[in-house]
Amino acid sequence: MEAIRHNWTREEVLAVYNRPLIELMYDAATVHRQYHDPREVQVSTLVSIKTGGCSEDCGYCSQAARYKTKIDKNDLMSVEQVKEAAIKAKAAGSSRVCMGAAWRNVKDNEEFDQVLEMVRTVYDLDLEVCCTLGMVTEHQAKRLASAGLYAYNHNLDTSEEHYREIISTRGYSDRLQTLENARKANLTVCSGGIIGMGEKPEDRCAMLVALANLDPHPESVPINALVAVEGTPLEDCPPTPVWDMVRMIATARIVLPATTVRLSAGRTQMTPEGQALCFMAGAGSIFSGDRLLTTPNPDIDSDTQLFAQLGLVPKAAYKDGDRPKVDESYKERQAQSEHVKWSRPGHSIARNVEKSIRNLKTKEV
Ligand code: SF4
Repeated sequence: MEAIRHNWTREEVLAVYNRPLIELMYDAATVHRQYHDPREVQVSTLVSIKTGGCSEDCGYCSQAARYKTKIDKNDLMSVEQVKEAAIKAKAAGSSRVCMGAAWRNVKDNEEFDQVLEMVRTVYDLDLEVCCTLGMVTEHQAKRLASAGLYAYNHNLDTSEEHYREIISTRGYSDRLQTLENARKANLTVCSGGIIGMGEKPEDRCAMLVALANLDPHPESVPINALVAVEGTPLEDCPPTPVWDMVRMIATARIVLPATTVRLSAGRTQMTPEGQALCFMAGAGSIFSGDRLLTTPNPDIDSDTQLFAQLGLVPKAAYKDGDRPKVDESYKERQAQSEHVKWSRPGHSIARNVEKSIRNLKTKEV
């Protein structure tokens, strides 16, 4: 049985990544069978509870206010709207609802109180609840946990080195701190990244090392292929070859044996055969529904067909962990806000600046 290790080196992971593909897939499929039922796939639904208008400069993101993109922005959804979306997701076979808000970080205000009510409402529907709300403090994470949150998502995105080419408004160490804060609140951790942003295989492997050397490992690691959105600094990146996704998923499978590896954004660019290779290589989860925050995703009918063809079945909620115990303490805001200083590295990324200026100029016209 493949051991769970927390001391991977970049060289070791790169050597795994560079194995002949057929061998790599076989090795990954073997590890997958040691730790997981290969027929079960966890199906999640992503609900964008607050879309657009974000202050950050993530080069891949259509929701950054500084870039001119064609998205339907919305303010924070109501609890009722989220409940409706969660009921629909459950009926369509999802066991987890992930709520995403385009925020830099969580603030102790009415909007966060509303998100906590959403968490409790979805929890009461017997669904696993995940949130991705930006950077979060330990106390905020504890409030989310007491409302019934199961998982907190915060992606590392890429290697620390390549990260500096993609984002200048927040630091890599803040990302790691957020994951630690989620851990301290006994939340499960979901953290992965995006490939196809001009990084080298070394960057992909360095990101996996950063995740694999966390102890414990994140319970969930999403692997996204960049969906290049018009108006963002990364709009001209070519589509990621399916072979790169298979290789990345297989490598993640081997270095994080017990983790659920999520085949996330970019599935619309893949054939059913390409997706089948990803499942063979150890992917154990997908997002269902025709949108992933703001980018397209296969519709439920094509996923149902794909599952039938491949003999896959959706995994039940809470199969990998206990349903959280809830209490009413989530309603209490901390008397004094934690004095957390999230960083703003503020270095200049030429293509991010260029796209922001172009947006400003269009607004002025
Ligand atoms: S990825 Fe998140 S933090 Fe970055 S711009 Fe988009 S919404 Fe904001």
